[in-house]
Amino acid sequence: MLTDAHCHPRELLLRFPEAEEERQRLDIACAASAWNRDDFICHEALARRRGSPRMVCCFGVHPQLPAAEAGERLRAGAEEGAVPPRFSVGESLALLETLAEEGRLEAIGETGFDLYNQTYRATAARQEELFARHLELAVKKRLPLVLHIRRAMDKVFFHARTLKKLPAVVLHSYSGTLREGLDLLKRGVEAYFSFGSPILLNHKTAMEACALLPPERLLLETDAPYQPLRGRAFSQWGDLALILRGAAALRKEAGSPCGTPGEVEAVTGDNFFRVYGG
Ligand SMILES: [Zn+2]
Repeated sequence: MLTDAHCHPRELLLRFPEAEEERQRLDIACAASAWNRDDFICHEALARRRGSPRMVCCFGVHPQLPAAEAGERLRAGAEEGAVPPRFSVGESLALLETLAEEGRLEAIGETGFDLYNQTYRATAARQEELFARHLELAVKKRLPLVLHIRRAMDKVFFHARTLKKLPAVVLHSYSGTLREGLDLLKRGVEAYFSFGSPILLNHKTAMEACALLPPERLLLETDAPYQPLRGRAFSQWGDLALILRGAAALRKEAGSPCGTPGEVEAVTGDNFFRVYGG
């Protein structure tokens, strides 16, 4: 079966109201990441629907959230705390703690580090604090951790010793190098590398990693609706078959094991259920 290791179903539904029907028709199991209450409640309800393919409920304070919150405050022209921002890191973090305590999470994340540009880099210290809390909770609850990492692979290595304690670490939209991926595995981290539209958009580093990493560490994702293919406004479930074929073609060309769409579908499916259970 097709599996999507990282996506945002409610955000997708807001843009594409038939999304869940499409997921059902294509029989795609997915790991749904939320960072606010509305998204999480929606995912939980979808996950309970009888007859639907599996939906895994994940929650994390997105590493871009501190910058978004600062932006909201800036736009509001207000003193800190004077106007409640639409994006609240504090609320999101409190909800994470509650959901983890109540046993409602199947994975923690997406969390991590986004140091892509100056706006995000300005919140690096806050991202570090948030990440530490997510990591601590994941270790305590023995849950897989979903990572969002941009220009920050050094941070992953810095935390490798703690990451090693987790049952699985999913590097969503993996943008590190092949060598970094292999090094992480050598250090004993149960790392899984998830690939989406970048492998179809000529991102050479991701293409090489997707072609050459061990098949038992490979996952596929849409990050729907956030990583559209060229000429599209958003990504959706239907993209997964294209991503699957792209991954298989890259592996075949490289002479790697699992070089047909059927083999990639089977191995990423096994990996998905090993990571997320069920
Ligand atoms: Zn995402």
